[in-house]
Amino acid sequence: MLHYDVCGTSRQCFKILHDRRELSVHFLLDVDGTLYQTLDLSDTAWHARQANSRSVGIEIANIGAYPPGEGTLDEWYPTDEQGPYVRFPEWMKVTGIRTPAFVARPARPERITGAIHGRDYEMHDLTPQQYATLVKLAAGLCRTFPALAPDCPRDAEGRVRADALSDEEFAQFHGILGHFHVTKEKQDPGPAFDWERFLVEVRAELARPLEAKP
Ligand SMILES: [Zn+2]
Repeated sequence: MLHYDVCGTSRQCFKILHDRRELSVHFLLDVDGTLYQTLDLSDTAWHARQANSRSVGIEIANIGAYPPGEGTLDEWYPTDEQGPYVRFPEWMKVTGIRTPAFVARPARPERITGAIHGRDYEMHDLTPQQYATLVKLAAGLCRTFPALAPDCPRDAEGRVRADALSDEEFAQFHGILGHFHVTKEKQDPGPAFDWERFLVEVRAELARPLEAKP
């Protein structure tokens, strides 16, 4: 299950989840593509209520989606000659990003607007480094858990669903989904998350032969 963390960095997300909200998640994916695992996959993480007992939780560092014109994205994403980039707030002091002098830029420069649960939200895309790591992680999980399909909830026409599954649909679902697919109260991983690009790349990764150990 994919989340965005509304914190901006994995360091900040870990602090909020563990120290303030007493929640947990298996993986945190930082803006530079660094992946942190904080829990064994055989343990249950507290990240999505009804889905906790049968899901692996992944928190993706991103400030999230907002109603159009809300203002947060203007603060977080100034633009230079190369396009928008993340400017972390002064109070954060230490970002904890492991790549020295890393500049986080959305994979697509334009702000993405899309409907979740029938309401419009806007958001900036993940970084290319996050997609690259997430593809490897998802493929690895699909290999580890063969019942996990490299697909997401879709409607009758094959489009990625932008609403919540019913309890029965969720019970039968074996794939990759967003937090918003299990609860009407959540919008993550948001309208900018590029499901089709991601899933195409996960399937391509799964089709590659595993490298033999030396
Ligand atoms: Zn979430």
